[in-house]
Amino acid sequence: MQGKLYLVATPIGNLEDITLRALKVLEKVDIVAAEDTRNTLKLLNHFGLSKKLITYHRHNEEIKKDELINYMKNGKSIALVSDAGTPCISDPGEEIVKEAIKEEIEIVPIPGACALITALITSGLECKEFCFIGFLPLNKKNRKEKLQEIRQERKTIILYEAPHKLKNTLEDLKDILKDRQIVLAKELSKIHESYKRGTADDLLKGLEQEIKGEFVIVIEGEKEQVIPTNEEILNELTLEKHYEYYENKGLEKKDIIKRIAKDRNVTKNEIYKYFIKNDEL
Ligand code: SAM
Repeated sequence: MQGKLYLVATPIGNLEDITLRALKVLEKVDIVAAEDTRNTLKLLNHFGLSKKLITYHRHNEEIKKDELINYMKNGKSIALVSDAGTPCISDPGEEIVKEAIKEEIEIVPIPGACALITALITSGLECKEFCFIGFLPLNKKNRKEKLQEIRQERKTIILYEAPHKLKNTLEDLKDILKDRQIVLAKELSKIHESYKRGTADDLLKGLEQEIKGEFVIVIEGEKEQVIPTNEEILNELTLEKHYEYYENKGLEKKDIIKRIAKDRNVTKNEIYKYFIKNDEL
């Protein structure tokens, strides 16, 4: 008989937030697959549990996935845990879940703490409908696109952010959000848990010199329907149509490339390369 894959949520701070069911599962499984075995070892030791631990993180996901699947096919049950909170939520897990489904291995979720839900319910913002983004992309173009999505989003938005990037992210949010309310939920379930509420500008003014701790950013949805700018509409087009738009306005090739590059926040070279590669210039 095949083993099962348990997706076990662990605390995001306060160790008392582990569930009785999570403890029972961690006790009975054959293997615990953990993002960082040192962190999980501390958790297991705290509850007097001793288990075979295997590392399973973003950088070895591809290789380890097969190894873990083989264990389960050979009858061993595995508990997948992340460093904190719910596996698969801005944490590894998705890949092994997909593979387990393909292999018809039973997947059992063990629900528990999750930073996004904890922050949302204390935010005082609309909880009926929300949109979780996780960490904003670092790539300039993808980040700009995601920020545009946030600008237009009518539902409450939830972001994760690392302390050393918080200031930069609030500055980006300030540029697009005008007076929308933001809640900065810090160190949830830990000793220094705190909430700051205000606009991005208010929150930037209140930031400490040295930012430490873990943060969730909860953002009020846009109340009014946002009419996309001309630039946003153009960026939805294919590059060929974008080119045609400026061509119909009577612009010369050189200027068209310049305008497209500016609209899309990329270099002129990238646009040239695209058209040359497609034999279109
Ligand atoms: N899987 C986790 C979950 O279920 O929430 C999230 C893991 S993600 C790699 C880590 C991010 O979650 C942190 O950078 C922070 O944004 C957020 N986070 C985790 N624990 C937190 C806490 N106690 N307080 C505030 N934010 C937290």
